[in-house]
Amino acid sequence: MTWQDDAGRDLVKSFGARMQMFVRGEGSYLWDADGKRYLDFLAGIAVDSLGHAHPVFVDAIAAQAATLAHVSNYFATPPQLALAATLKRLAGTGDEGRVYFGNSGAEANEAAFKLARLHGGAERPRILALTDAFHGRTMGTLALTGKPYMQEPFLPMTPGVEFIDSTVDALEAAIDDRVAALFVEPVKGEAGVIPLPEGYLAAARELTERHGALLIIDEIQTGAGRTGEWFAFQHEGVTPDAITVAKGIGGGFPIGALITFGAASELFYPGTHGSTFGGNALGTAVAGAVLGEIERAELVRNAAERGAQLRAAIEGIDSDLIDGCRGSGLLIGIGLTHPVSKALVAAAQEHGLVINAPNDETIRLVPALTIGDVEIDEFVELFTATLRTVEDALVLDASTEVPA
Ligand SMILES: *Cc1c(COP(=O)(O)O)cnc(C)c1O
Repeated sequence: MTWQDDAGRDLVKSFGARMQMFVRGEGSYLWDADGKRYLDFLAGIAVDSLGHAHPVFVDAIAAQAATLAHVSNYFATPPQLALAATLKRLAGTGDEGRVYFGNSGAEANEAAFKLARLHGGAERPRILALTDAFHGRTMGTLALTGKPYMQEPFLPMTPGVEFIDSTVDALEAAIDDRVAALFVEPVKGEAGVIPLPEGYLAAARELTERHGALLIIDEIQTGAGRTGEWFAFQHEGVTPDAITVAKGIGGGFPIGALITFGAASELFYPGTHGSTFGGNALGTAVAGAVLGEIERAELVRNAAERGAQLRAAIEGIDSDLIDGCRGSGLLIGIGLTHPVSKALVAAAQEHGLVINAPNDETIRLVPALTIGDVEIDEFVELFTATLRTVEDALVLDASTEVPA
């Protein structure tokens, strides 16, 4: 029996076949069971901010597990209060801000959805969200996710959500005083690393404020320094009513949070939301340590600088398959001239490189925020070899094609 047989028999079929089985990681490297090494430019989908097995991450888990892991939300713990204060500071909420902890991105967005309903009440049944944005897979967050093919098998959705194009014109046309909230994903990661148009967030802030609607920004993929600011909305200097975070803040430990600003911080009241595991001492200690290390090692600046360096290096690769780069910091989408992303992902693994294909014509790179010259040089070498492999296969295909 191979591990593929075990996976095929025992794991839920909602995911496709696992591409590899990894047994160990260190920094930006992974190893499979045969001892083959891979350069990891996916980092568990923008999760492993510090790379694999970082001593800060390891020590935080060990120390907190040996002290106090979980007591329920009937009680406070020091790491929980410390992380809430850190998130408020990094997000810039000021004193009025508050933090709700969950265990995933979807749970953070579920909390945001309930926040929107509490704000909207009966007078504001409408919620606006953007076509193609991704907000999660639970029934609530799926209702916010503007991808009809994902919703279709699970209809009917929670009512009230309307999808609009990511333009200021579309928002202007749709918004009125019956809208409770606008949900936005500042760079659409799952859709292929598609940034919002420049100035969109500022216009959205103005329009939501004018109509009394909340502006809720999903920073689950873009947060924790990924785009070269702590949070993507900070590039535009707006103040949202709430943001959601997960992925990179835990560095591999499952944790998510809703961070509220201003009056939105007073909407929840006792009994309106909760979670058994959410914000437990172990998870918050780890996230606190991860954010502390991102700050200490200046990894937000590293994300901005290494992101620019990596994009310039990619644009310097001579390949007809590449059609430019999108995104900011270390959230990078490489556009492709042919729908060969899946072939590139497979070929890359042959060459010892882990990359990701959010759609047929995009490669997504979301490496650890710790990468430096060594990782970037090695990436360029492995990715160039990967491109050659797929180019050769394309030429072979074309030359063996039988004319009609
Ligand atoms: C990953 C992601 C989510 C969902 O997070 P999970 O932890 O998988 O539930 C939501 N929104 C965005 C923008 C994401 O990238």
